[in-house]
Amino acid sequence: MKNYKIVNIRTTVKSDPVESVLIIYTGGTFGMVVDEDGALAPFNFGRVIDRIPELRSLELKLTVISFPEPRDSSNITYLDWQDMAYIIYENYAQYDGFVILHGTDTMAYTASALSYMLKGLNKPVILTGAQIPIGYIRSDARENLITALEIASKKENGIPVINEVCIYFNYFLLRGNRSQKIRSSTFAAFQSQNYPYLAESGIDIEYRKSYLMPHDADASLEIKNKFDDNVIIVKMFPSMNRAVLETMFSVKGLKGVVLESYGSGNTMNFDWFIELVEKMIKKGVVIFNVSQCSGGEVILGRYETSKKLKEIGVISGGDITTEAAVTKLMFLLGQEKSPKKVAEKLAQPLVGEMDVQKMP
Ligand code: ASP
Repeated sequence: MKNYKIVNIRTTVKSDPVESVLIIYTGGTFGMVVDEDGALAPFNFGRVIDRIPELRSLELKLTVISFPEPRDSSNITYLDWQDMAYIIYENYAQYDGFVILHGTDTMAYTASALSYMLKGLNKPVILTGAQIPIGYIRSDARENLITALEIASKKENGIPVINEVCIYFNYFLLRGNRSQKIRSSTFAAFQSQNYPYLAESGIDIEYRKSYLMPHDADASLEIKNKFDDNVIIVKMFPSMNRAVLETMFSVKGLKGVVLESYGSGNTMNFDWFIELVEKMIKKGVVIFNVSQCSGGEVILGRYETSKKLKEIGVISGGDITTEAAVTKLMFLLGQEKSPKKVAEKLAQPLVGEMDVQKMP
């Protein structure tokens, strides 16, 4: 483990707080402040209390674990997901919930990966961040963090209301592995097209109970932390060049491809293309078909242009997002040796990330 900085935040409330939340600070715009030269730079989260004094008056026991070098989430890798999962695992019994402060750019990937890794999760893990750094007056960091903390500590009759990995952003709580960053310049950065939002924060926080993962009293947390990054994402576009695609597919050690198809799972069905994909599958490369559309689902066989894909063994991603698909592929390739097993597990939901195909 790296050299993580740990800070306990002392609250000013008189009685001893009952609920406790562990904040894991990884970096991102949230924690950047303007330095002497006017540039944005990550700041030491130990000083967060200076920027958000309201934290002291929350009736919560709060601890912050900060990544030694907070980073832009564009530089996050599966090694960081392993660290985050490990921190949660190690501290699982001591805290009621977990909040991860993370850059928005790859937050949906991290949320998806953690949802697969934290098997038997029975407590809230809420990722949040900000579009404007905490050092700015109009920052959204304050609201996002304070509400995320409230959600992470919410219980009813002693049982956590949230029992899964979520993203809280701009008044909405979304299932993590159903989320996508869709806007870079407004506060409403995230959406979940194919799964309803889980809660909305207004005067009260309204939870939509029928969409939440239920609490499983018998489950105990396990972490599954192996990934295999020998994967690529291939996005279809008209006139895709055969030689380019052949070169991409000939990468040494390639084990999986997320194929971003059109509409409900269609690709060109020229002979050379189908033969190439079939050759890859025969070689043991898993091909996972997800739609370029952010809403809707892959239904292999609906159109003639996807019938062949199904016959040769391409796996349908149903209504999964690309973020959840590529992390699922890396995760399953890390867990399973046999491509057949990986393919079987890809086709089924692991933890609410997709609905299975409604049509044959
Ligand atoms: N580039 C930043 C990041 O993802 C953007 C953000 O945090 O909003 O780390």
